[in-house]
Amino acid sequence: MPHLLVVEDDPQLRAALVRALRDRGHAVATASTGMAGLDAAVTHRPDLVVLDLGLPDVDGGQVLRMLRSVSDVPVIVATARDEEPEIVAALEDGADDYIVKPFGSGQLEARIKAVLRRLGSTEPDEPEPPVRVGGLLVFPSSREVTLDGEPLELTPREFDLLCYLARRQGQVVSRRELLAEVWQQPLGGADKTVDVHLSWLRRKLGETAQKPRYLHTVRTVGVKLAAPDDAGSPQPERG
Ligand code: CA
Repeated sequence: MPHLLVVEDDPQLRAALVRALRDRGHAVATASTGMAGLDAAVTHRPDLVVLDLGLPDVDGGQVLRMLRSVSDVPVIVATARDEEPEIVAALEDGADDYIVKPFGSGQLEARIKAVLRRLGSTEPDEPEPPVRVGGLLVFPSSREVTLDGEPLELTPREFDLLCYLARRQGQVVSRRELLAEVWQQPLGGADKTVDVHLSWLRRKLGETAQKPRYLHTVRTVGVKLAAPDDAGSPQPERG
C-alpha cells in the first residue's frame, strides 16, 4: 500500500483529498504548512508527496528545493493556477509531475500511479478485495459485479456509481457528492444525470424506486445502498 503525504493548507481540500485517497487504498499522512510538510516527509518517509505550491508559511517551490536537498521522494505539485513559469520552475526543482486545481481524485490517482510506476517504486498491484452488500458482490479490481451469484452487466459509469455507493454502504450519499466523485464535476451539474443512472442501476438490480431492496432514495438528501435486511425501511419509499 503506497504511503502518501499530502501537504495542503486548505482544510476542506485536504480533507477531501485524504478521504478520496484512503478510499483508493492509500495510507495518507497530512501537513498543513510547508515546514510541517518538510518535517513529515523526512520523518515518515512517504512513498510519494502531493505538495501544494501555495502554502501559508513557506512557498511550495522552496519546500520542494529543501526537500530535494535531503530526499528523492517522488513529488507531485498541485497548483491553483495554471501558471506555466511556476510549473516549469517546480519541474526544474525536481517535481516528478504536477496537477492543476481544481482536479478530480481520479486524475490525481492516475498521476500518482504513473509516477510510482515510472520510478519503479510501486508494489505489484494487489487485487482489491470485493465489497459485499447483502447478495451483491462488487469486485473493484476486475470491475465485475454479481448479484446472488449472477453476473450483472453494467456500463462503466454504472459500475463506478455502484462501487462508490457500495464502499459507503448504509450511508446516505448526496447527488452533489456523486457528481463530484463519480462524474468528476465538482462544480455541480444536472442532478438528473445522477437520477437517470440510478434508475438504470435500479433496473439492473431488479428493483423499483417504489419497492427498493438495495438502492434507497432518501428524498431531497440523496441515495444509499444497503443490504435488504439492514436497510431498515419497511415503508415503501418514493423517489
Ligand atoms: Ca494553498
